[in-house]
Amino acid sequence: MVTPKFKKFKIEAYKPGKSKVRKLKKVIKLSANESALGISPKAKKLILNKKMILDKYPDGKSQDLRIAISKKYKCDFNKIICGAGSDEVIQMLCQLYLNPKDEVVVSEYSFLMYRIYAKIVGAKVLLAKEINFKVSIKEILKNITRKTKIVFIANPNNPTATYLTKKEILELRNKLNKKILLVVDDAYSEYMKNNDYTSGLELFRNRDNVFVLRTFSKIFGLASLRVGWGYGSRKIIDALNVIKPPFNVNGVAQLAAVESLKDSQFISKSIKHNLFYAKKLKKFLENYNIFSNKISANFLFLNFDKSKISAKYLYKKLKQEGVILRSTEDGYGIKNKLRLTIGSKKENLKFINTVKGILN
Ligand SMILES: *Cc1c(COP(=O)(O)O)cnc(C)c1O
Repeated sequence: MVTPKFKKFKIEAYKPGKSKVRKLKKVIKLSANESALGISPKAKKLILNKKMILDKYPDGKSQDLRIAISKKYKCDFNKIICGAGSDEVIQMLCQLYLNPKDEVVVSEYSFLMYRIYAKIVGAKVLLAKEINFKVSIKEILKNITRKTKIVFIANPNNPTATYLTKKEILELRNKLNKKILLVVDDAYSEYMKNNDYTSGLELFRNRDNVFVLRTFSKIFGLASLRVGWGYGSRKIIDALNVIKPPFNVNGVAQLAAVESLKDSQFISKSIKHNLFYAKKLKKFLENYNIFSNKISANFLFLNFDKSKISAKYLYKKLKQEGVILRSTEDGYGIKNKLRLTIGSKKENLKFINTVKGILN
């Protein structure tokens, strides 16, 4: 039998943080930056109580959700597009902007989905060097050519947990050719309490050459429902709506997302929880000379270079005990580092005790 020929891609498929360990029933997953406190109680209540309409197509324009977003973030309803995760919005942007041989510039250790979707549509991806695992504006600008169409920045970045300050990201936009689209991914912005940081949405809501990404997968705790959104100029949004799959965001996700936006109490609780445990875990690991970057999002990027043990060793040992971290070698190619998601109180304490058991 013959398999009709398909296109070949030079792409490494995205490997998500692991969620299972063979032979172990109960594991603690600190590998995918999901919400430490789960789903907002308001959204949970809604999903459990409300009679869901599952036999009809959802609203393809996500009207109610876009209204709720525009109210919450004081932004223009017409400049919002919702996606099945911000992932899908990244994909649509690549489809809209990139022809084969067009160029995209991303930072060396940036979130992987930008390069994956860019390559799928045939674009060339240039990697800008980083300095101490931080985006370098100079290096990004060095890689710009006449073929560059998009520069993607996750701020803060996953997996490195570093971020560009307000001043730096404004500098990048100012020095970048006006015709190049700057995409600022705000996936973790709700967690950011650092004084020198401002989110992409706040900085660029009126700039037609910046596109902002947001997600409900992280602090809002809806990772499994797949819902995110993009914010950009009316022209871009209208064009994206032409290529958007008609019913991309499912109805349950739309309802849950609206509800979770109302749950300010849950959001503040999550931020507080995150900061408290991020500090605690960072300090604890320093006892073993495992250092991490300044606290930013809901994860730490652990550096083992000064430690007696290797990242690989700790990763393996923890996994045997049912505690899963994210290897940064897979996909990112970063050696001797691990990414640790801040978990619930119980998960964090279990992590601490397990590390003590392994290393003391
Ligand atoms: C987790 C994450 C996202 C969210 O992806 P979804 O498709 O919305 O779940 C986007 N960008 C970055 C940098 C992330 O780490």
